This record gives sequence, C-alpha cells and structure tokens, in this order.
Amino acid sequence: MTWLDLLAGKALNRELPAREEALAVLVSGDDELLDVVAAAFRVRRHFFGRRVKLNYLVNIKSGLCPEDCFYCSQRAGSSADVLKYTWLKTGQVVASASAGVAGGARRVCLVASGRGPTDRDIDRVCDTISAVKSRHPDVEVCACLGLLTDGQAERLRDAGTMAYNHNLNTSGGHYSDICTTHEYADRVSTVTAAREAGLSPCSGLIAGMGETDEDLVDVAFALRALSPDSVPVNFLIPFEGTPLAGQWALTPQRCLRILAMVRFVCPDSEVRLAGGREIHLRTLQPLALHVVNSIFLGDYLTSEGQPGSADLAMIADAGFTIEGATPSAPPDALAPAEIAPADAFAPAASLTPSTPRPDLVHIRRRGPGTTLPPNT
Ligand code: SF4
Repeated sequence: MTWLDLLAGKALNRELPAREEALAVLVSGDDELLDVVAAAFRVRRHFFGRRVKLNYLVNIKSGLCPEDCFYCSQRAGSSADVLKYTWLKTGQVVASASAGVAGGARRVCLVASGRGPTDRDIDRVCDTISAVKSRHPDVEVCACLGLLTDGQAERLRDAGTMAYNHNLNTSGGHYSDICTTHEYADRVSTVTAAREAGLSPCSGLIAGMGETDEDLVDVAFALRALSPDSVPVNFLIPFEGTPLAGQWALTPQRCLRILAMVRFVCPDSEVRLAGGREIHLRTLQPLALHVVNSIFLGDYLTSEGQPGSADLAMIADAGFTIEGATPSAPPDALAPAEIAPADAFAPAASLTPSTPRPDLVHIRRRGPGTTLPPNT
C-alpha cells in the first residue's frame, strides 16, 4: 500500500490527514502527479460520483471598495481598469442570474464589493434575492457581501438565501501580508455567523499570493475546522494595478497538487475550482475535474473566463456530467454573449509551465454592469 493509498483511505473515512501527509502532496514530484490525481479522484468519486456542479457569479456591485486586500482588483487604490458600478437593479440581477441558470448553473452567487453591507444594503439584497427565488425556485442563491454584523445573516436566510460565501483566503499567519484593513479573525467570525444562522457555509482560499506550503496546509486545516459545505479554491489572478501584480508563482502541476491536498483535507466538501483556472491550469483544466466537483460557469467578478460553451464541452469531453439543471438556450432578451475569441486562452509559443501569462488575463467587459449579454 502506498502513501497515497493511505491518504485516500483516510479521506474516504472522513479522517483528517496528518499535516505531514498534506505537505507531502504539495511537494510530490511530477512523476507522481497522475498518482496524486488518481488518489484524489477515488475520494471525489466516492462522495460525488462524476457530477460537476455549475455555479454562476453575478457581480452586483463592482469596484470602489474601501478595503485593501492586496489580491483584489476592486480594492482601495487599485488602478486595474475593472468595471465600477453601484448596486445593480433587481431586474438586471434577475436577468443575469437567469442566463446562468439557462446555461446549467444550479447555484447563483450574488457578490458585492465592500467591507460589509449596511442594514439598508441588506434590505436591497433581500428584495433582489426574493425576486431571483421567485423566478427560479429551485436554484440555490449564495450571497457574498463581506463581513456581516448581528442579525444580517438571519435576514438573508429569511429572504431565501441558501448559502453565504466568505473566504479565509490564506492562513492566519500570512493574513497580514495580504490585507491590513481587516483581520483573519473577522473572516472566521463571519463564516461562523453564517453557519449559526442556518446558511450553508462556503469558504475557501486563494493560492499564489506568496504563501508557503505550510500556509496552504494551515488554511486547509482551518477550513476543515469550520466544516464548510463548499470550498472554492482560487488561483491568484495578478491584476496589473494591484500590489500582487507580477506574482506568477503557480504552475499547472502545482495547482493540481493544491486541489488534491484540499480534497484530502476536506473530502466530502464541495471543492470548487474557482477564479484563475484558465490562466494557471490552462490545458490541464480537465485533469482538475478528477479532483474537484464544482466550477464557476463563464466569467468571474472582474475578469473573463473562457466561453461558457467551452466549460460545458470540457466537462463532457472529460466524461463528467452536469449536476442538476439541464442546459437550455438562453432567454431571448439575452442573446449569445460576445464571448472572448476562441484563441483568447490559446497557448503561446516557447512556453514552460512557469512562464508568466499576463496575456491570458482579460478584464471583464460584458455581462452584469454592461450592455452586453453575459457569458454562459
Ligand atoms: S473586501 Fe472584497 S471587494 Fe473589498 S478589497 Fe477585499 S476582496 Fe476586494
């Protein structure tokens, strides 16, 4: 029996691995990469079969945030040329959410920039969530509005919100290196408040921000301690105009190891391949489907993903099936998006796995907050 067999066996029993075992995944060599993926796939298949859950992001308030999260294109002082707009109208949110649902999304994630909502903001978001639920009673609505104060999670729940997202992002020890305007403990408190209010906790991380392997294991273990139902794993999109511009520390192979480590630590959580997958995993994206059981369809908050049709084709080609919703044509009001050209994510010549790829970062110019239809 190999060390990976032992690790997969623990995960199948929902047993927490030893820190050394999680670290061993991160330092495993390229010769072992497919063995690592195969071991993680055993766990993924046991808990989730070959299903892939599609989630759809709607950025309902973009940019102009007073916080200084170093990785974020919407932060205070960011000169990234991202879309900036205040709260979308309910009809705009419902239209975008409907496009995602038509594309096969089972969950719609409504995200707003900012430190956290005021009670008036909660009024507005609750109205919007009620409208989305009224149009799509079976779709899961997740809210991501920042730090919550007393009673806000309960009000979101009562309006029909199913889940609340608030990522830990990195380890407690590394947190002050990526943000100075709030603390790691604030984030833990909000995830805890969401859970206590009966919302499904969604909390994950961002890799590629200068953290060590120990930091990655720390944040994975911290997430496990919070028992999130969903764990989004993001890979840093190093936007020009942010403090982390130019940080291209990830390779496709490292991304796969990070995803596998998270799968072993959080075996029965929905592990979601989130932002940055196109630019860091690139042609290895389909391999990641053997580890994760969830992705975002189409675009991200401030950057464009590959065409939604390419997401669906990738899932089908890799032999996986979409969970829940049946894809259908988008509504008439939402004509096919002017999606990024087919070669927008194409490989360039003379590359190694560690070649920086700023050419693959595309600021979002369609969908919510624009006159162009979304990418689904
Ligand atoms: S609080 Fe949210 S929107 Fe604001 S800078 Fe941090 S991550 Fe970006």
